Amino acid sequence: MITGSCLCGKVTYEISGKIGDIVHCHCQTCRKAHGSAFSSVSAVNDNQFTLLSKVPLGCFESSKGKNRYFCSNCGTQLYAKREGAKHIVLRLGSLDSDPQAKESCHIWVSQKATWYSINSQLPEHLEFE
Ligand SMILES: [Zn+2]
Ligand SMILES: [Zn+2]
Repeated sequence: MITGSCLCGKVTYEISGKIGDIVHCHCQTCRKAHGSAFSSVSAVNDNQFTLLSKVPLGCFESSKGKNRYFCSNCGTQLYAKREGAKHIVLRLGSLDSDPQAKESCHIWVSQKATWYSINSQLPEHLEFE
């Protein structure tokens, strides 16, 4: 079982099975939402994701049809989801256990922060992979 939580602990979640490959997203909306150079994410099927929350999640539509969900108490970004999708895009910084997934690539490098240098062997895509 893979587990995760927000900073204040009011939101926790459990994932059964494996998560998707890890993608590092440098798009501007991820940078703003997370307040960081990039956001590391993986797809998780809806039916493998169990949310256990003591507070309602906050939600922000950062682009048409794409919502970003976060703890309404402490602001930790937890996942994003597109309308109609059968999976969430988990924000891996919220994990408490090792997801045992492999890193796959950097995306939206065209929007990368000028002050951050990518020093990895992974493929870099200017936009979405
Ligand atoms: Zn919280
Ligand atoms: Zn992004």
